[in-house]
Amino acid sequence: MNIPRTELPRVVVIGGGFAGLNLVKKLKKLPIQLVMLNKHNYHTFQPLLYQVSTSGIEPDSIVYPLRMFIKRQQNFYFRLADVEHINPKTQTITADIGDLHYDYVIINTGTRTNFFGNHEIQKYAMPMKTIPQALNLRSLILQNFEKSTIAITEEDKKFLLNFVIVGAGPTGVELAGAIAEFKHNVLPLDFPDLDPELMQIHILEGAPRVLPPMSEKSSEKSADALRALGVDIHTNTIVTDYDGEVVKTKDGKTFKTRTVIWSAGVIGNLIEGFPEDCYNPRNKRYYVDEYNKVKGFENVFALGDIAQMNCEDYPNGHPQVAQPAIQQAMNLSKNFPKILNGKNNLKPFKYVDKGSMATIGRNKAVADIGKLKLSGFFAWLVWMFIHLMALVGFRNRLVVFLNWVYNYANFNKASRLIIRRFSVSERKVRTDAEL
Ligand SMILES: Cc1cc2nc3c(=O)[nH]c(=O)nc-3n(C[C@H](O)[C@H](O)[C@H](O)COP(=O)(O)OP(=O)(O)OC[C@H]3O[C@@H](n4cnc5c(N)ncnc54)[C@H](O)[C@@H]3O)c2cc1C
Repeated sequence: MNIPRTELPRVVVIGGGFAGLNLVKKLKKLPIQLVMLNKHNYHTFQPLLYQVSTSGIEPDSIVYPLRMFIKRQQNFYFRLADVEHINPKTQTITADIGDLHYDYVIINTGTRTNFFGNHEIQKYAMPMKTIPQALNLRSLILQNFEKSTIAITEEDKKFLLNFVIVGAGPTGVELAGAIAEFKHNVLPLDFPDLDPELMQIHILEGAPRVLPPMSEKSSEKSADALRALGVDIHTNTIVTDYDGEVVKTKDGKTFKTRTVIWSAGVIGNLIEGFPEDCYNPRNKRYYVDEYNKVKGFENVFALGDIAQMNCEDYPNGHPQVAQPAIQQAMNLSKNFPKILNGKNNLKPFKYVDKGSMATIGRNKAVADIGKLKLSGFFAWLVWMFIHLMALVGFRNRLVVFLNWVYNYANFNKASRLIIRRFSVSERKVRTDAEL
């Protein structure tokens, strides 16, 4: 990888998501050779991906170039690399660009969409975990509208204008709300020759209610808000098949649609090479101790979504959201000087739950903050403020804020652009999109 060997210990950070980014910001000052490997040259702010998919904001405003963190810093190297394998015996990382020896390695590779082994669904449903995937979805939604203008029969139009979202967690709920707003605000303006009533939005959830990780009150409020926007909610509904035309469920329902958006679960981006007892085979998360050390290793760490730290409060690991990733990175960065000096008095990780929230479109959001359950306009303002502040980079905050103001004032979604056509049948596009 063309990185010189120096006398400094080499610390390799794999993944530039919430955990990796916050970690390198803190480790930069230590007497180490710091190397970051990531398969994109940018950090992605995943919570706003759904707004990219639904033409609300441009992709550039939710990503941040990882090389911006180097800023003339000696001993800090970034390499655009897809890590394939780690050999813990020889302490070697193998990536598509070559091999690298490490003294310490910190794995922050996050998760990818989990299709639960159903290859047919994986082939045809749309995931939304990365910028390329969000752009594919944006193209597909807009192409459907364009195609429906030339479709002859009402049945064909309905097929193109029927959107099925699988999974009613925060991502599914936010997407459903944003697509419903498209129907009400954009379709009548841009496509006056299309009857908006032909467009349907279904959200399918295996649990008995939407937003299962949130409180019942927030769940009810968000279900009411979705229904008010015309979204059809199907709970206790498990999808068993999708062949590109018809969605089938376990209880015998069928939905004819060209567009299925899959937000029903994630699985760890595990890197090969570790013994099998180091990770959970079901969700592919590394088992880590309270200092984020991977089971059985002193110089291998895992943080964020890819780490499973079983503890009393979280017997199955912490929730796979941004805060555990950020907080684990902070804790490890504080412990790292001690680790380098061989000291044992490390601080164990303790998660501080700052709450969870979801927005269901204009003026509507729900938030569970401790015992406080917020909903409606105030929760929406809180949601916007927190997401703006969490975005990386002042430019991104400003651009997203201006976009939101513009969209709010005009009931509009400014980025209705098909930059690159998407075809579900073109396998090559799908492979690229998975990157
Ligand atoms: C659509 C969506 C909406 C979300 N909304 C919210 C929300 O509102 N609030 C919230 O708290 N959380 C939300 N989350 C979850 C949150 O984004 C994750 O919990 C968080 O990103 C986890 O951080 P991480 O650093 O562990 O992983 P990630 O942020 O996923 O970062 C992993 C990084 O590793 C890189 N990588 C992966 N494999 C390799 C490899 N083999 N080689 C090199 N690099 C690799 C990836 O490119 C990526 O940069 C959302 C997630 C999604 C997908």
